Amino acid sequence: CGIVGYVGPRTSEKALDVVMEGLGRLEYRGYDSAGVAVVEQGGVGTRKRAGKLTNLSQALSEAPLPETATAIGHTRWATHGGPTDANAHPHRGGSGGKLALVHNGIIENFHALKQSLLADGVEFSSETDTEVVAHLLERAFAGSGDLTEAMREVVGTLEGAFTLLAVHADQPDVVVGARRNSPLVVGLGEGENYLGSDVAAFIGHTRQALELGQDQIVTITPDSCSVINFDGSPSEGKAYEVTWDAAA
Ligand code: GLU
Repeated sequence: CGIVGYVGPRTSEKALDVVMEGLGRLEYRGYDSAGVAVVEQGGVGTRKRAGKLTNLSQALSEAPLPETATAIGHTRWATHGGPTDANAHPHRGGSGGKLALVHNGIIENFHALKQSLLADGVEFSSETDTEVVAHLLERAFAGSGDLTEAMREVVGTLEGAFTLLAVHADQPDVVVGARRNSPLVVGLGEGENYLGSDVAAFIGHTRQALELGQDQIVTITPDSCSVINFDGSPSEGKAYEVTWDAAA
């Protein structure tokens, strides 16, 4: 339902704060669960809880995650699998705990994709349509070692409507997003960049935004933002300045 992503300079330790604040600004959309992932040295740490953001904050104060330079977050409105801690996003791919994914929308062909992953011995830890994408991304990443390329390979196999954000511990200063029939906006900062399902996700930090077109993939690092189409051809977002009042 609501999505936030942030990547800042390696020395910054505020990714989790930025993402939690963004999730708070997206609460108006409604949701039944919430979760975050931070990219740590060698792995990705996640916390997720059914219920309100205060449940997630509580989980984070009981078992803190390290403050890092890269994080993603999600507020979920369940479509596949009930509103439980396990079904909340982010979802992890593979067994190494290195990839985390959040998703808005519905993967219409998830059942067929899940059957073939199960036949290959992949173990699932949720009932969501989303988790298949996490496993597919982890597999594609194992081939190319590049999260943007992995995303490009995987979106070609997906049907339905989706905004996806992924992080991988082997590319700690990268967040990759993709969209089809579901919104995704880039917030451009100085030495830091943002992704959101709408501008409310980052309006507290920047008003310089980039709107993505249909069927596009965006890769942000602290000081770059690049856009390609699902077919791999280069593209650009449409830059604009957010003018409405942050308090609205
Ligand atoms: N279909 C996904 C799920 O049920 C994402 C729902 C959403 O957009 O929040 O987990």
